[in-house]
Amino acid sequence: MSFNLATILRESRQARPGKTLCHIGELSFTYDQVDEMSGRVAASLRGLGLRPGDRVAVHLPNLPEFLFSYFAILKAGLIMVPLNPLLHASEIAYHLEDSGTRLLITFASIAEQAAKAAGTIPTYVVGPPGDDGHPEGTLPFADLYGAADTGEIETTDADDTAVLLYTSGTTGRPKGAELTHFQLYMNCTVGGELFGFRDDDIGLAALPLFHVFGLSSVLNVAVRFGGTVALVPRFEVGAVVEALERHRCTIFSGVPTMYFALLQADTSDRDLTSLRVGVSGGAAIPGEILRAFEEKFPGVVILEGYGLSETASTTTFNISAEQRKVGSIGKPIWGVQTMIVDDEDRPLPPGPGHVGEIVVRGHNVMKGYWNRPEDTAQVFRDGWFHTGDLAYADDDGYLFVVDRKKDLIIRGGYNVYPREVEEILYTHPAIAGAAVIGRPDPRLGEEVVACVTLHPGAVVTEQEVVAFCREHLAAYKYPREIRFLDALPIGPTGKILKKELRA
Ligand code: AMP
Repeated sequence: MSFNLATILRESRQARPGKTLCHIGELSFTYDQVDEMSGRVAASLRGLGLRPGDRVAVHLPNLPEFLFSYFAILKAGLIMVPLNPLLHASEIAYHLEDSGTRLLITFASIAEQAAKAAGTIPTYVVGPPGDDGHPEGTLPFADLYGAADTGEIETTDADDTAVLLYTSGTTGRPKGAELTHFQLYMNCTVGGELFGFRDDDIGLAALPLFHVFGLSSVLNVAVRFGGTVALVPRFEVGAVVEALERHRCTIFSGVPTMYFALLQADTSDRDLTSLRVGVSGGAAIPGEILRAFEEKFPGVVILEGYGLSETASTTTFNISAEQRKVGSIGKPIWGVQTMIVDDEDRPLPPGPGHVGEIVVRGHNVMKGYWNRPEDTAQVFRDGWFHTGDLAYADDDGYLFVVDRKKDLIIRGGYNVYPREVEEILYTHPAIAGAAVIGRPDPRLGEEVVACVTLHPGAVVTEQEVVAFCREHLAAYKYPREIRFLDALPIGPTGKILKKELRA
């Protein structure tokens, strides 16, 4: 079956002429403009000799040029390789080489490093508005507007790879998850439908668009349903509050640390009453944060979902206020099946006593990891994709993630799920942030260590925190050591980096 994901842009443009697709600061672009700009870039890419299936890397923060490039790449039948703008030169080089990228699109402040990493790969640079300055050996992105828009959308097969999304998966170096036109189309269609995304919705895009959550659940959903996105180049709480208010955003999508930052921010003189839904994913949102957020912003309901790069974003979702269960990641979305299995891949019955790995199959699961048959075979067994996440199901089919397999702490032979300990820490009035890790211990194998940050002005001792946890948790679970930090290390998508804490 032939299908190209760029159709979502063309169809929404035809259905809503003149409608705004994206805002950034004071600038706005309509569907017509994004369709035309991406059409010109697509024609230029073709003119440069790129052919369907060739890879083009887009190494940009959330800028309109990200949208022009993305839809251009799709229209020309090329494969989009979104890269984290925070990558260093050696990491950029790794991704370009691994994906066999033929052209790189990057941005001014890192252009020199990126161009070095790219070597002989042509590098186009997005400058600040009105400035097409670019280092020697690179070309201005504006050159790609040179060709006329033919309106052509390459006839691709629905199962052709549209995007290579780099992820570490459960192990090893970053690998490219191959997501097809069909998978991405289905995921934004089902995801948007489930929580009732409307064409008058304005979604805030502070989540990075290079990540599956931003790309599929924010950008694709908005374009698919004819909505609007307000771009924030990178998450910074002041800029986010400003954009929410200025553009009257109705939907905020974020990872828990973003909700937490908004919770801490002084928004008393801001009018954020346009917000109606908060979509949370990427990590478990502590119940305390969810409740406090809804109290601070009445009228907003937070709906938690779960997914991975390998599952083209949403896999399970709490679809509405009436049907959600706080603390749960919801139920599998339409067209997707999940099971909880034990170490021998045998399905487990419902109940909190039956924790196992979440496995998934359905329209959203990637084709495989680019050029990595062995890694692919490792995560696919009997047609089920193995997520590396531990969870249990309840009798109603709602899933509860207890932790990632690799974050599980085994203390003296007992499983300790860091998330459970973190939930308790978050209920302590002095504690603002918490991450629990295992420290190697000669006697127990691992010891439970809590890294915490405190609310401004709060004072609490290590003994007090330990005693508080002991009161609420079984003897083998409570942390014996508390480390007080100024801030928890946060990755580019806003997730807490436990790897760094362990190091
Ligand atoms: P990524 O591929 O970067 O999107 O990371 C996917 C991982 O994020 C999953 O394997 C989970 O460990 C984690 N994750 C995503 N959503 C949730 C959630 N709602 N609750 C707990 N963990 C989540």
